[in-house]
Amino acid sequence: MAVMELRNVVKKYHLADGNDFTALKGINAQFEAGEMVAIVGESGSGKSTLMNAIGGLDSDFTGEILYHGHNLAQFSQQELVDYHKKSIGFIFQNFNLIAHLNLVDNVAMAMTLSNVDEKTRVARAEQLLTKVGLGDHMYKKPDQISGGQKQRVAIARALVNDPDVIIADEPTGALDAETTGVILALIKEIATEGKLVLMVTHSDRVAAFCDRELRIENGKLLATTPTSSPATTPAVGRLEKVANMSLAKAIRLAFLNMKAKFGRNFLVALGSSIGIMAVILMLALGKGVTTYVSSTMKSYTNPNITEVHKQAGNQQKAMQNPQQMDRAEIAKQQQANIAAMTGASGGGFTDKDIARLKKIKHVDRYQLGYSAFSMGNNAVTYHGKRASVLMLQTMSDNIAKSTIVKGHAPHRGEVVLDKGTADLLGKDIVGKQVTFDLKVGTKNLTKTMTVAGLYEAQTQSVSTMIVSYDEVAKLYSETGQTLEPNVIYLHTANKDNTKQIKNKVKKLGYTGSMQEQMTEMFTQMLNVITWVLTAIAAISLVVSAIMILVVLNISVVERTKEIGVLKALGARRKDIRRIFAAEAFLIGLFAGILGVAFTYGLSLGINRFAHSAFDITLVMLTPKYVMTGIILSVVISMIAGILPANRASKLDPVEALRKE
Ligand code: ADP
Repeated sequence: MAVMELRNVVKKYHLADGNDFTALKGINAQFEAGEMVAIVGESGSGKSTLMNAIGGLDSDFTGEILYHGHNLAQFSQQELVDYHKKSIGFIFQNFNLIAHLNLVDNVAMAMTLSNVDEKTRVARAEQLLTKVGLGDHMYKKPDQISGGQKQRVAIARALVNDPDVIIADEPTGALDAETTGVILALIKEIATEGKLVLMVTHSDRVAAFCDRELRIENGKLLATTPTSSPATTPAVGRLEKVANMSLAKAIRLAFLNMKAKFGRNFLVALGSSIGIMAVILMLALGKGVTTYVSSTMKSYTNPNITEVHKQAGNQQKAMQNPQQMDRAEIAKQQQANIAAMTGASGGGFTDKDIARLKKIKHVDRYQLGYSAFSMGNNAVTYHGKRASVLMLQTMSDNIAKSTIVKGHAPHRGEVVLDKGTADLLGKDIVGKQVTFDLKVGTKNLTKTMTVAGLYEAQTQSVSTMIVSYDEVAKLYSETGQTLEPNVIYLHTANKDNTKQIKNKVKKLGYTGSMQEQMTEMFTQMLNVITWVLTAIAAISLVVSAIMILVVLNISVVERTKEIGVLKALGARRKDIRRIFAAEAFLIGLFAGILGVAFTYGLSLGINRFAHSAFDITLVMLTPKYVMTGIILSVVISMIAGILPANRASKLDPVEALRKE
């Protein structure tokens, strides 16, 4: 029964000028199992065209090519792929081995594409390589063996999936006479084992070696040996189904190729890792600085306390719409601000304010407070030494215990001074009496108090005195005034609620502490700067993407022939696409990891310097940023890989194989 039958096969090439060129003009033939048939003809007579059609590489013909009775022209994509993998073995004139794979991997390729496990694959490849006499060279690369040996590898590769039909296109064309003999003997052996061998040649010596000769001229067959009468062959059995390559195997193939081009891929990954590094370094730097700013500000305060101030006059309006206020109004506002800050007037909380604040959810108690800036009026004297005191503040729970570095919190008649000012006045001042000249409200007053303790100022060089709220109230009443609290401290049992309370306070129209407002402004500015710098750094990612796109495109061009071979061996479009996508993925992954490693290295250096110079951690490389870097890199690389991967998958195998 005929393995292959050709009935009136006509192939037309569509030319650019709109005309058709008929390369095969009605070919009829039958081929049996175990036959070795020579297809002989001049160059340009149509031999390759015919082999491409029989080999399922070109389905654009009319007529019928029946493989065990099944018409190739009606094969689905998957059936064609299975046909390549299982039914057909190709041997090419130029061997077409894949340069970066060793002989075993080259031979086993059709099995890899059929998802056969490694052990079976390697065993089969080793068996065939031994059979063709290459038992000692199995793990060499193609460029380490001679032409004749390469063709033996190609023969082993064609046999790996035990196909019925071997198509050999001038298999001895590139070999010397002696080697030709050996290769022909090998091919002959294949036929005797029961396979159909179709061999294109224009050498009469080679043709004479075959059982039968088909001469083709100008697209027509000249019957040199009688062909059996074209009886109708019934379709037998079902076509064999073969498994498809898994993603893991595609990644392995991609990996092997990348290893072969390690230098180039490394440079590309290095290039794009710099972009990734720039991006995550900016993010980590931003995080480090912001964290530093807010943690220094916070470390001096009690996390359970919300400090509330009242905005003087129209400050909010002034901040929101400065252009809508005239100069007189602005001046008035400034006066109000100064008065409030110095405690002369304004900024005081009314009972209504207190009632509103008290009602905020999670607030379990509150504390009244008072703070005022002195514009040079307040001073402290001790044994003839005098120092200005810029800030008068009441003792509150907000002053964390750790900030009182010596002594204790102030009671009646006592004061806590900042350490700087205390040092100015003299050693061991705790427990001693000092004299203050104070401006209380609008009145001046001289007062003697005992230094109860020392306080480490959170921001340097602000001389501060801390007294109890009752003490300030007393000072006010001594000068015939009444004290209005201008700070309220809201206490919550659980510090996780503090944030919520702070937000509510703002919503009600009050403000937080001065440091808080500054921190907020600072953090906002830092965030903007971080994002701007990150965006600038991200531009380099576009460059990386283009670079990866170019390199993968070059890779597709370089490997056109390899892609042709893979398709002839039964690679689906999807497999080819996956191999290239996997390469893009691997470049991206590598670039991402490299970028993160660089950032880590840099952060060690920068932080070391920052620690010794300012005692801070400047770069905070969190796991989130590490993941962002790697994922970003992979995504960009894969996006850049889409076009080349698609291009590779769409290559026409016939054209790809013909490429020089
Ligand atoms: P052979 O293998 O016998 O040398 P081919 O099968 O390659 O011949 O080509 C047969 C004829 O078809 C030649 O005249 C060739 O120029 C033409 N041909 C082959 N491929 C194409 C193509 N893609 N487009 C147009 N004409 C083609």
